[in-house]
This record gives sequence, C-alpha cells and structure tokens, in this order.
Amino acid sequence: MMAQYLALKAEAEDCLLFYRMGDFFELFFDDAKIASGVLDIALTARGEHDGERIPMCGVPVHAMDGYLARLIKAGHRVAVAEQTESPEAARKRMGSKALVNRAIVRVVTAGTLTEEALLDSRSANWCVAIGEAAAGVAIACADISTGRFEVIESDYERVGAEIARLKPAETIVCDGTAFPDLGTATRPKADFESSGGEARLKRLFGVATLDGFGSFSRGGLAAAGGLVAYLEHTAKGSLPFLRPPRVSRTDAAMAIDAATRESLELCVSQSGARKGSLLDSVDRTVTGAGARLLGQDIAAPLMDRGAVEARLDLVQRFHDDPGLRDMVRGSLRALPDIGRALGRLAAGRGSPRDLGQLRDGLDGAWRLGERLDAIGTPPPLLAELAPQLRGHGALIDLLARALVPEPPIDASNGGYVAEGYDAALDHLRDTGAGGRRAIAALEAEYRTRTGITALKVRHNGVLGYHIEVPARVADSLMKPDSGFTHRQTLAGVVRFNAPDLHDVAIKVTQAGAHALTAEAAHLEDLTARGLERREAVAATADALARIDVATALAERAAEGGWARPALVDHACFDIAGGRHPVVEDAIARSGGRFVANDCKLSEDSRLWLVTGPNMGGKSTFLRQNALIAVLAQAGSYVPATAATLGLVDRLFSRVGASDNLARGRSTFMVEMVETAAILAQATPRSFVILDEVGRGTSTYDGLAIAWAVVEAIHEDNRCRCLFATHYHELTRLAERCDALTLHNVRAREYKGELVLLHEVADGPADRSYGLAVARLAGLPPATIKRAKSVLDKLEAGRARTGGIAAGLDDLPLFASIAQAEVEKVDTLRAELETLDVDALSPREALDALYRLKGLA
Ligand code: ADP
Repeated sequence: MMAQYLALKAEAEDCLLFYRMGDFFELFFDDAKIASGVLDIALTARGEHDGERIPMCGVPVHAMDGYLARLIKAGHRVAVAEQTESPEAARKRMGSKALVNRAIVRVVTAGTLTEEALLDSRSANWCVAIGEAAAGVAIACADISTGRFEVIESDYERVGAEIARLKPAETIVCDGTAFPDLGTATRPKADFESSGGEARLKRLFGVATLDGFGSFSRGGLAAAGGLVAYLEHTAKGSLPFLRPPRVSRTDAAMAIDAATRESLELCVSQSGARKGSLLDSVDRTVTGAGARLLGQDIAAPLMDRGAVEARLDLVQRFHDDPGLRDMVRGSLRALPDIGRALGRLAAGRGSPRDLGQLRDGLDGAWRLGERLDAIGTPPPLLAELAPQLRGHGALIDLLARALVPEPPIDASNGGYVAEGYDAALDHLRDTGAGGRRAIAALEAEYRTRTGITALKVRHNGVLGYHIEVPARVADSLMKPDSGFTHRQTLAGVVRFNAPDLHDVAIKVTQAGAHALTAEAAHLEDLTARGLERREAVAATADALARIDVATALAERAAEGGWARPALVDHACFDIAGGRHPVVEDAIARSGGRFVANDCKLSEDSRLWLVTGPNMGGKSTFLRQNALIAVLAQAGSYVPATAATLGLVDRLFSRVGASDNLARGRSTFMVEMVETAAILAQATPRSFVILDEVGRGTSTYDGLAIAWAVVEAIHEDNRCRCLFATHYHELTRLAERCDALTLHNVRAREYKGELVLLHEVADGPADRSYGLAVARLAGLPPATIKRAKSVLDKLEAGRARTGGIAAGLDDLPLFASIAQAEVEKVDTLRAELETLDVDALSPREALDALYRLKGLA
C-alpha cells in the first residue's frame, strides 16, 4: 500500500493527496500535518516508514467538499485519489492480500474550483452584524468557533473598509439599512433596536449592567443585539459560546480600504490564495490560534503607539534570546488547539478527545507559564500574559484523574474514563470482566461435560451469549435432560442456551450497559466542569496565541535580518535598506539578490515622484514601503536595516488601471473612483502610494490627471506619498511643489543591452529606456528598428514644439487656484448674508439672484 501511496503522491507533486480508504480520505506524512492544521482535525499515527511512525489524518468521504474548500482557501491544492475497483474485484485478481487499484481522478485548485459560494460560506469565521443609530455605526462580530465577540464602534465612512478587513463569512444588516451592498442577510428592524439589544446582552451574560464590558454607543448595542438575535435565530434558541464582548473603535486601527488590501496583498494574494501574501511570507507561527491571530494583527495595524511598543518589546525579547525563543516554540508546537476544543465542547459537539486536548493544552500552558515566570525582568506584555497560562490546576488534575491518556473521538463505545476515578464504574467493569471470565470457565465445563471439544460459547446481537456446536455432534445436547435448550439450527451448527450461562450473561450485559451510562454521565459532568472555566480557558488560549505570534515574528526577523522600527510622533518615514519580503523571497528562490533601497520622507520632502523604466522596480519600491508601515504598526520587526516612522492613520495604495477588467466597471472609471477616495480621505498622517495613476486613458488626459492629482496631494492632503509614473513631464512639478522631490530607479545600457539596477537614486530618470525594455522583452529587431525611427521623428518634433508638456510652465499654481476658489466662495457667502429675504419684493429678489450669479 505504501508503494502505491508514494507513487500516487509523486504523481500529485505539490498537491496534498486525498487517499481513499473505505469511507475516508486519508492523508499521510507532511500532507497529514498540513491538513490537520488547516482543517483542525486530529493528527494520529499509523504503521512505520523508514523506522518512523507515519503521521496520518482523515476526513469522511461524505464531508469531503467542506474540507476541500477549506484547504483550497488556505492556499493548498488537493489531488483526489479514488479506488478504481471494488475490494471484491481486487480479491478476485490478487487473492486475500489484495490491494485495490487507486488513481488520481481529480485535482482541485483555487483556479479550477467553481463552487465559489461553497468556499465563501465555509471558510471565514466571522459572523458580523452592522448596527446603525443616529449618532453612528457599529459592527458586532462573533467567531463562534472560539467564542470571540467584538463590537467595533465605527462611522458611516469607514464601515466598508472595516468589513473588508474582517472578510466575514456572513454579514447581517437590518431592514432599510444604509449598507445594503455589504449585507448577506437582512433581519427585521426590531432585532436591531438598541434598547432591546442592551436587554438581550444583559440576559445573555447574566449581568445587570454592561459597564464592565466597556462603553457601548447606541449603534454598538444595536449591532451586538442584532447579531445575538441572529445567532439565536439560526441556532433555534440555544446560543453557541460567546465571550463577553470587547469594545473597540475603528480608529484604533490603521484604516486600510478594500482596494488597498487587495493591491498590497496583505492577507491573500491577488489570486485569492494565502500563498504569495504578506501574511504568508511572515507567518512562522506554530499553532492554529497563533496563525489566526497573526492574520488579524496584519489586517488591523494599531494606532496606539504604546500598544505597538508593547508588542515590539515582546518580539525583541524573543528576538534577542534565541534559546528562549526555541524553548517557547517547542512547547507551543506540541500543544493542541484548546480554543477550538473549547468551542466544540461549548457547542455541544465535544468528544472525550476534546476534553483530553483541554487537559493536555492547559497542562502544557501551565508548564510554559512556569518557565516564562522564571525568566528575569520580563517585558510588561509578557508579565501580563504569563499568569494567564496558569490557574487551571484543579481542572487539569480533574481531567488527568478522570480520563485515559488518549481519549477517543467517539464516545459511544466508552473506555475513556480512567480506572480509579469512579469506584462504582470500576466495579461495573470488574463485574463485566469477572462475568467474561466466568463465561470462559463455563465453556470449559460444558466441553468436559459433553465431551465435545469443538463446543464454543459465542455472542451475537440476536441471541446474546449462547453455546454453539457442530451439527453432527449436536444430538446429545438435544435430549430433554441434557440441561441445554435448543435455540437455533443453521447449516453446519446448532445453537443452545443453558440456565447458568443465561444468568452470567445477563450480569455481563447489564454491567456493560451501566458502565456506558456511567461514562456518559461523567463525560457530561466533565464537560460542564470545563465549561465553568471557559472564560479563563479562552484567556489562556488567547495568551498562548499572542506568545506564538511574538515568537514567530522574532523568528522571522532573525531569519531575514529585520530591524525593530522606531516610532515617533511626527509624520516622517525614514527607511534604510528597505526590502519587499515577498519579492525578496521569490528572487532568492531563483538565485537572485534583492537590492535594498532607502526611503526618506520628511516634512520638506513628503512626496516622492519616482520615474524610471518599466520593470525597473518602481512598484516594488512603493509597495515595500507600504508593507513596512503595516508590519511596524502590527508590532513586527520590518525588512530593513533601520526604520523610523510616525504612525500612519490611513494607508492607500492605487495602481493605474491595466488588467482589472474582471471587476466589470470600466477600469479607468475604477481608477478614478479610487483616486477620488484618496483625495477625499487622506490626512497629513496618511501614507499613500500611487502607481502609474492616469495610465488608463489617453496620454494627454492621463498626464493632465496625474499632474492635478499630484498637486492636490501635495497642497491639500499633505500626506506622505510615493508616486510612480512614466510621465517624464511630471518631473517639472518639482519646480512648483516645494515638498516634492524627484527619484528614479536606475538603469544602464551596457553593450547595447539594458541593465536594470533596481536602485532608487535621487533625481529624475535621464531617459525612458522604453525601446530597450521592448528589446529585453523580445520584440523582433525589425520592429525595434522601426520604433527607433518613429521615436527619432517624435523627438525631433518635441524639440521644435516643446512636446506634450509645452505650455505647462505657464499654468498658475494649484495653491493659487485653490485660494481663488476659496475667495470666490467667501464673497458669495458675504453677499448672501446681507440679504434679508423676507424684506425683498419679487423684483428685488430676481435682481439679487442675477447679482449672485454674476459673482459665481
Ligand atoms: P516597475 O514597477 O518599475 O515596472 P516592478 O517593481 O514591477 O517594476 O519590478 C519588476 C521586476 O523587477 C520585479 O518583478 C522583480 O523581479 C524585479 N525587482 C524589483 N525590485 C527589485 C529589487 N529592489 N531588487 C531586485 N529585483 C527587483
């Protein structure tokens, strides 16, 4: 079988192999480790290969689609190997040791999957409700698998971005909502009444006031109430586990809208997979809960400098002490996912194994806590977290006494309560075992009495315990005085009962049934005892996840030679030797070397205009700096030799329209809508990267728009901005915008070949190298030659007329235009204020209107 498996696995290449065995698809080796992590299913072991136990996990065939969808969503590809003949056919072919033929019948990948609705509905964990009140909007989110419950106070403008961050599986809105586009389900308005919501929350958590949870706005109560009502509705009254809600504000996190997330590939790449994203390239977590938390951190970089520094202190501690880091990661790696085990127990889907996981997880957490307590002067965050790892002593002891070392998932056969935990249960088991011994003794006695050595005592579901002898020797037992009662005659055997066997059998059966009942009662009791402490257990799970994230970030930083960012109060952005983690990895894999680049934005140079040839590295440079801001505020080290930055309140990334046709709207329209959003929202604390904006239309339009956008960002938004463009003409803006500086990605022509240096240098690009890039890309020499002569003609024309930018120098300054607009509005307002409308005759009113019109 192993040979067959390995052959199929080789065929499957980098896919996970689903290997059909009866009613299950099994995964082995690394596949099993990966799948058990992604799917949150048990990792077991089986047989041996090269002297090592083979890791294995499996999913039931009937539930395969859901598991597949989740693996795909996590960025994996799956090859499905089916049995291609029946076991009978295999036996006919090969005899009793037959191995059925199997073949890969399907490869499922993100790109080939069509059941998108299925994917979406099963993957993410957030269920979200939007609550609207006169004063504001709030979002309530619950992750039922771990009981997390949060309320985010937001505002009308930022709800969309917040939903994009959460990527909920489901979004509930009320009838008549202002956000019909965001909702996946609409519920009656009554469910979203803030007063009803308050009452519902108080009832749910059994409290008289919600003050202990934080301060809720009306919108927050509406959202939380609406969400709880919805969960009650779907669960038909019995609510899944929810922890008390945590209240936060949208502006506690860096605002990153949906288009920016997509363009920066923060948590998923443009293809929709985790692979290729920033998250994927930094993730070194060793637990599922840690990976979930890291995803949340990267999706919501903090705005609170103190909180960021606290995370960084923790990362630094683990970064500077590799021994400590390895110890912690080793301990964490061995821990089961107690958050999810708790979630299953709370949802009534718990098994003895979940209790075992709770026991082992809490025990491991305790021991890790002790070791962390022993390190001198822990950073404040660790001093806060370490005590949360302990304090479950009684529960651990109870579970350790009550359960066998490896409790089964299936409770129906019993056998999970440990010996010595319950004397009555032990007694029942003894009775059962004693009875089985008595039955064996009876069998021996019957054999002596009848002289039939082939006599056997057997058990089946219909007759229970009975005596079975071959038909040819059954006659003596048939006699009325034999002491045996005939029960059944089959082809070769005859079956009997006997009074003494009957008595013992009843005892055995009853003891077995009573033992099962007793075990089930213990399961229920132990579950309840575990759930009594669910708040504290969930807090332990959270603390473990935070420690996992910190050690993982430390590991990543050490691996990549990253630096701890310094956060300051003013809006600077000073990166030395910055790199793009994803591109760097890709280049390193193909044996290349990534060129590190500095980026120094400051008060008098806050807008960098970056020019240079296509493929020169402009986009990469822009993005790496945006990613550095995200990482820094998520509390991570950054891929640079040094970094100093002021907190970024809003991050925007826009790429000029090119191949985004899939979205349906005209791509240029999309580009302009998104650019408009930046001009409307960016503040002096924001960070904006604009890549080839204006590219989606004709040269003249595009240049004009790019020009005006740069001016507006420079004069109005005054944010930190990197603007990449191939419009060389824009470099003239440096003369009129004092905080705008020129930079270029360097290239050189060497022996007629273009060499892209990927180095960002000061000053404008000296030329565009378009033809050289075209040659590099393999355009035929004849075409290049023709293009060259066209270019010569155009350049000659430009020299004569001044080219497309001719006359731009005469433009009045943006600031003076803006000022003129302001002044005009002021005059209009002054004039309006002098009007006493009630005192005007119709004739005078008409005159006044003409006068106003003249002023406009
Ligand atoms: P542009 O935006 O100027 O067209 P890109 O940023 O898309 O260029 O970069 C093109 C390619 O050049 C990238 O795919 C990458 O392989 C390589 N590249 C970019 N920046 C660097 C760098 N700093 N060091 C090494 N290679 C780079």
